[in-house]
Amino acid sequence: MNANHTSRLEDIVGKAHCLTDAADMTAFTTDYRKIYVGRALAVVRPCGTRQVSDVMRYCYEHDIAVVPQGGNTSLLGGAVPVVEQADGPCIVLNLARLNQVVSIDPVNDTMLVQAGVTLNAAREAAEGVQRLFPLRIGSEGSCQIGGNLSTNAGGTAVLRYGNMRDLVLGLEVVLPGGEIWDGLRALRKDNTGYDLKHVFIGSEGTLGIITAAVLKLFPQPRSTSTALLATDGPESAIALLGFLKTRLGSDITAFELISAPALALVREHLHDEEPLFTEAHDWMVLVEAISNAPQADADEHFQTALSDAYGTGLVLDALLASSEAHARRLWRLREEISDAQTRTGGSVRCDISVPLSAIPEFVLEASARVLEIEPKTRMVIYGHMGDGNVHFNPLRPADVTAETFMAAVATKITRIVDDLAMSVQGSISAEHGVGVAKRDELLQVKSETELLTCWRIKRALDPKNLMNPGKVLPDLQSVLRSAA
Ligand SMILES: Cc1cc2nc3c(=O)[nH]c(=O)nc-3n(C[C@H](O)[C@H](O)[C@H](O)COP(=O)(O)OP(=O)(O)OC[C@H]3O[C@@H](n4cnc5c(N)ncnc54)[C@H](O)[C@@H]3O)c2cc1C
Repeated sequence: MNANHTSRLEDIVGKAHCLTDAADMTAFTTDYRKIYVGRALAVVRPCGTRQVSDVMRYCYEHDIAVVPQGGNTSLLGGAVPVVEQADGPCIVLNLARLNQVVSIDPVNDTMLVQAGVTLNAAREAAEGVQRLFPLRIGSEGSCQIGGNLSTNAGGTAVLRYGNMRDLVLGLEVVLPGGEIWDGLRALRKDNTGYDLKHVFIGSEGTLGIITAAVLKLFPQPRSTSTALLATDGPESAIALLGFLKTRLGSDITAFELISAPALALVREHLHDEEPLFTEAHDWMVLVEAISNAPQADADEHFQTALSDAYGTGLVLDALLASSEAHARRLWRLREEISDAQTRTGGSVRCDISVPLSAIPEFVLEASARVLEIEPKTRMVIYGHMGDGNVHFNPLRPADVTAETFMAAVATKITRIVDDLAMSVQGSISAEHGVGVAKRDELLQVKSETELLTCWRIKRALDPKNLMNPGKVLPDLQSVLRSAA
């Protein structure tokens, strides 16, 4: 029976693009952090919307579950099959071969790309016509536009340009039964009823397959100034953000908080021994500002704002990037923190967001409570502070194994952090989505009305529950039970 299915799928995409050998499939059935390992009938790699539609129609008719997959860089197990899916046949639908930048319209400031184009390739294509596609995340070499849309990715430039939801004008989506919705409009104004694209953005592959998108482009800034600043804590960092907003306005593109243990970890992993500051500091902020002024003038304006901040005591020390290469080095220290934790193992990842004004108390209170449980925990805290998004990721003590640490404290720490975030009207997942890891937590943080409404949408579009089942939405029976 399964051999019949795979041979039909091979007919659609070609034998070479339908992997069925367990060894060939491992990379596609294992998630980025190697926490979730699933099983699939096949990894199917279509090369265009028509093939995606044919695969979807076949799977729908034969009750085969479909797990869409982009670059497989998401951190919560959303892009791989999960154990529950082993009950019925399931394929991984990998979008990597839909990798064409179809067209660019620099007059309309838009770009039409297929879903499998990597974020890096999209950014480079925009640069080729002197435009900017501003989404910037550490995984940009591997993650794909379809994955970015499906997770509503955020990253380091949200403060200035918004997240993925703000950067898209139109979508093409293949629905579970194979029907193609062509919503590839390139309009900034279109008030013709429900804006369907927003149903699919952030739905993590549970409603349909995004096959193409019209993205917004922006003017390239003429100059960029970057600095790593030392500050005495989250409260000063928030005050500094306010100060810089007043001085630099919307020129600030990034404001990234970094705790000393986070910086130490990443430096160790990068073997980066070049001195940063003359003294050690507990908290740092990486700030970036853009401008349309010439570089020298922009730098002068930036430096004046920073030295005034120094005068107020909000900045304790500053390291200004003296060249593009220097700025890249500083950015690398920030962007590699995530991978440094993955390689170290034993990190409880909490990607929360809270109102900016609540950040200092949240960070201090959550840290104190974690240290009460395990005083030697390395407090790896960093993230997009300018958007209220903190990656609060306590890391195992150096002399405790990942397994021991996670088994002893992971659940407790997650509970503490999520409860604290919710107590100030925050979110338990700011930008990494829900996947399978956070799915059941939604029972605690979303109302019955909200979850049942989501299930109504899911059932309307995917009545057989074949699209990425077991992801994002807690099982319907649990929702009904928790409501009772
Ligand atoms: C080092 C590192 C740094 C990161 N930094 C950030 C960050 O700053 N901000 C941030 O937001 N994220 C970050 N991430 C997480 C991740 O890169 C993003 O979530 C990214 O958007 C996922 O894209 P992807 O193509 O890898 O998607 P995948 O991991 O392949 O898939 C993600 C989800 O989308 C679904 N999906 C994928 N493609 C499609 C499609 N075409 N149609 C329908 N559903 C689809 C999958 O089923 C899955 O549920 C980081 C990850 C790493 C490893």
